[in-house]
Amino acid sequence: MSHQYFHGSIEVVCGPMFSGKTEELIRRIKRAQIAKQRVQIFKPAIDIRYDKEDVVSHSSQAVKSEPVENSVEILLKLKDSTRVVAIDEVQFFDDNIIMVVTKLAARGYRVICAGLDLDYRAQPFGPMPTLLALADEVMKIHAICTVCGAPATRTQRLSAHKERFLLGETDAYEARCRGHFQDNDETEEQGQLPLQEEIKPLSGSLTN
Ligand code: ADP
Ligand code: MG
Repeated sequence: MSHQYFHGSIEVVCGPMFSGKTEELIRRIKRAQIAKQRVQIFKPAIDIRYDKEDVVSHSSQAVKSEPVENSVEILLKLKDSTRVVAIDEVQFFDDNIIMVVTKLAARGYRVICAGLDLDYRAQPFGPMPTLLALADEVMKIHAICTVCGAPATRTQRLSAHKERFLLGETDAYEARCRGHFQDNDETEEQGQLPLQEEIKPLSGSLTN
């Protein structure tokens, strides 16, 4: 893969909350730094869950980042010596992020994006479908379902809030497999009570 970097490339790491996207982003950043490549790390300014500046994983790994108000600010903050551009929580950006990322790759940068592929209703999140289609390399990773321990592809919101952007942690969200994910808005729209009963696995092992 490394041959791509000199021509620019787009990598996208996606999955639900707690799947290890930020850990994977930090791993790639550290390896680029070991290779003595200058890395700039950006995150949307609205993501201030753990720290105003740092990109922090749920396992408390952290790297310094530059918070930006919008995607075009990434272009303005870019330094000449930078080789690798890492962007966390990329789903929070406006659609201009697609143009920004494409431009960076065309200019020869290696761009690594991490973000949620699906929102709390399990619908494609903002610019993610397009970024995934344009990417040279995609990594879709799983968390562990908090109900049954199976690989989790969805993020369950535990509250009844309906904003798409709602920051929160384990108190507000849980990783869930397809079977244990429940779209509460849909249930409400249909006038039904949320499904309470335990969904039994069909067969076989549920270990990851
Ligand atoms: P993301 O950026 O995808 O939200 P992080 O990289 O911040 O994920 O955190 C991943 C870490 O979260 C895991 O290594 C693990 O320590 C922790 N974790 C907490 N809950 C879960 C879960 N349900 N499934 C998997 N990992 C979890
Ligand atoms: Mg993260």
